Amino acid sequence: MRRVLAIAVLSLLLGLPPWALPKQNDRWIRVDTDHFTLFSSVGVRDTKRLSNQIGKLKQALDGSSVGMKTHSPLPTYIYVFRNKSAFREYTIGVNQKPENIAGFFAGSDDGNYVAINVSATARPEGVVFHEYVHYWLDNNVPAAPLWVGEGLAEYYSTFTTREKRADIGRLVLAHAEWLRGHALIPMVDLLTADASSPYYHEEDRVGLFYAQSWVAVHFLMSDEENRGKLGSYFQRINARQGSVEAFQETWGFSPEQFQEKLEAYVAKGSYSHFRLTFEREFEDTPATVTPMDRETVLFRLGDLLAHNPPIQFASAEEHLLAALEIDEELGAAWATLGYLDQLRGDDEKAAERFEKALSFGENDARTHRLYGLSLLERFEDSLKTGFETFDLVLPRSPRSQDQNRELSFLLTKLANQLQTGHSR
Ligand SMILES: [Zn+2]
Repeated sequence: MRRVLAIAVLSLLLGLPPWALPKQNDRWIRVDTDHFTLFSSVGVRDTKRLSNQIGKLKQALDGSSVGMKTHSPLPTYIYVFRNKSAFREYTIGVNQKPENIAGFFAGSDDGNYVAINVSATARPEGVVFHEYVHYWLDNNVPAAPLWVGEGLAEYYSTFTTREKRADIGRLVLAHAEWLRGHALIPMVDLLTADASSPYYHEEDRVGLFYAQSWVAVHFLMSDEENRGKLGSYFQRINARQGSVEAFQETWGFSPEQFQEKLEAYVAKGSYSHFRLTFEREFEDTPATVTPMDRETVLFRLGDLLAHNPPIQFASAEEHLLAALEIDEELGAAWATLGYLDQLRGDDEKAAERFEKALSFGENDARTHRLYGLSLLERFEDSLKTGFETFDLVLPRSPRSQDQNRELSFLLTKLANQLQTGHSR
């Protein structure tokens, strides 16, 4: 929460301008599956195709991954944009070059947000696969080092299936070519790189960081024994071991030795993928398609802006208020406005808007949850432990919808009582 707040304040200080709303005649559809929801402006056929592709990657990950879960108790939203001009409004940020972004993933306590621009590449599913792997990893190894995240995301970006077979780790030609003409950076730098590393630029998916992360993962995955150890590496990371130490203990070689192996691997230049055969054929994902009305499109896009740091407050609010202008009783839009107020530190306005959201949808678990967490945050010092427990347990534990709803109500009640006690 604090991190999000810091970023929010930063974008306020920079005074980034609000942008245009989506065009009046833009057609959007909503596609619901059991595990994720797509909001898309590319038409039913193409959206369903993407939805089926994601479903197949999910089936493959379910069937092959070392005890890692592909299901999140939080909702997962995948936004599909038709072209660059429609997409760029939602990607502008302090450190990003929007013209180069094909997709992004933003995880939050409120949901998982993935967005892609299908026109960025001839193979849009590659972008979806890349972002889906981020989502999957974030679900299981939230502190996964960047190299393994980007490496796996690129590794799975070429995923294909046929009947019962899945091919994983097919060549990413751009990376192989890049590696042929460039020296590797020191492995220690790669293993320890974080978002502030000079090597890492999320907008630039070709070049040094992505190519080397991809080949590092490719090397490890190409050998069955090494591949089998990936789960132990993640366990060590989850136990808060450092990236280099965890690496060395897992695979038994030092970063320098890894470097030598990789250099030989690149020099050899034969990148074989592996093939998994499953018991059943890959199936299409059952999905329900619903057209979205204008206010829902505005709300969903505003909600996306409210969750992709650095948060673009002006633009997010512009979208949400425009949605409410059409339908004042759209409780979910009020709730996201409250969420933004809270990020900005305006607790009173947040409470007002959460109350308004509840007045239009008192059974809405998300509003109760957001409101409850916001109230609890106001007493953070005295309630730090309790707050952290809720913050950890609530979004991560696999509960049923009913249990979640119940818990949300309790949380709001508790926070309200604390508030009353506090002000007395
Ligand atoms: Zn990525």
